[in-house]
Amino acid sequence: MVTRSEFTKYFLPVYNPGQFIPTKGKGSFVWDQKNNKYLDFASGIAVSSLGHCHPDLVDALNQQSKKLWHLSNYLTNEPAIKLAKTLCKKTFAEKVFFSNSGAEAVEAAVKTARKFAHNEYGKGKSNIVAFDDAFHGRTLLTIALNGSKRMTEGFEPLPKGIIQHPYNQIDGLENCINDKTAAVILELVQGEAGIIPAQQKFVNAIKRLCKQHNVLIIIDEVQSGVGRTGHLFAYEKYKIQPDIVCSAKALGNGMPIGAMLTSTKVGKYMQPGAHGSTYGGNPLACAVAFEVINKISKKSILNGVQKKEKRFLDGLNKINASLNCFDEIRSAGLWIGCKLRVQSKLNLDNLMQAAYSNKLMILKANNNTIRIAPSLIIEDKLIDEGLERLKKSIQQLLD
Ligand SMILES: *Cc1c(COP(=O)(O)O)cnc(C)c1O
Repeated sequence: MVTRSEFTKYFLPVYNPGQFIPTKGKGSFVWDQKNNKYLDFASGIAVSSLGHCHPDLVDALNQQSKKLWHLSNYLTNEPAIKLAKTLCKKTFAEKVFFSNSGAEAVEAAVKTARKFAHNEYGKGKSNIVAFDDAFHGRTLLTIALNGSKRMTEGFEPLPKGIIQHPYNQIDGLENCINDKTAAVILELVQGEAGIIPAQQKFVNAIKRLCKQHNVLIIIDEVQSGVGRTGHLFAYEKYKIQPDIVCSAKALGNGMPIGAMLTSTKVGKYMQPGAHGSTYGGNPLACAVAFEVINKISKKSILNGVQKKEKRFLDGLNKINASLNCFDEIRSAGLWIGCKLRVQSKLNLDNLMQAAYSNKLMILKANNNTIRIAPSLIIEDKLIDEGLERLKKSIQQLLD
């Protein structure tokens, strides 16, 4: 049997995983090597939105796995076309590019935006405006978009032409978004920062300046998209017409896939040779993602998200009323951040450990926030059960 210490021995030390090793999952449950059974309030990081090993997704993967795994992009394939068509039908998009991950979808978005600005308006229009505490991935470009020292230190030189501005701050926005700007990239709800929703007036200010200066709007929906907020994509709620949307995470429910969605107009300069990916759009991932999108875009699932969100909030508010442990509870669908009121033993790391020992999987985010991102189809009784386990974990640290 492989062990956790072998992880330490053989892995680049960029991760510090929990002590148990999960071996199988089903719905909202995960089992470890010792057959302990955990309730999953994390879904990876908001990835397994239909739970683990959903039978219809297993079917889609099995069937495709017997037909065709790979082609180069010198040829296309049926699952990729079906997925692209569905994404275009269900969103603002007219054109799709498939990648393997969120960071690659962002990379494609920034390349597409710069190419468009360059070809339409000439050389001087290449800046990308991004926001403090954003998360767009871990490549050199995407850490540069994040801008925080914590992520960039030691990795310089970084890609240039990125302008940083505080999130949700309208003041000074007009100094960043101007005729030199190719695009603004933002999350409508910042996930890694601790589930921080954008204010509508902030989004409106961005919209207005972008229109005024012919600037494209890139919405990073890698974490917020595919049903997480109770909408297929969060931009629907903000009534904003994006030029480009980045998707990944839940799109594959665990199969690695990312997508950049855009319009015919914005995408028209991305001609052969401009961009590509060996695995992007591969039949296996696309067959699963096709099934995912068709399921999650159903009204029954999206409306269910809003009902379950309320159940979570009611439960969390009750916990807070009795334990006084959160400074704030924020949510956007089944995506909930509870800012911990840190006190002696009650801190994020201890709480993660306590939750694991009570057989509950939760997530951390920045700013002392615990993050909850369960399956979108989690049963109500499991929500109640998980909240009991969370309460018990907090109580143990307060005693
Ligand atoms: C996770 C995430 C990414 C990066 O996705 P990867 O698949 O890890 O590259 C980008 N943007 C947002 C908003 C994310 O949450």
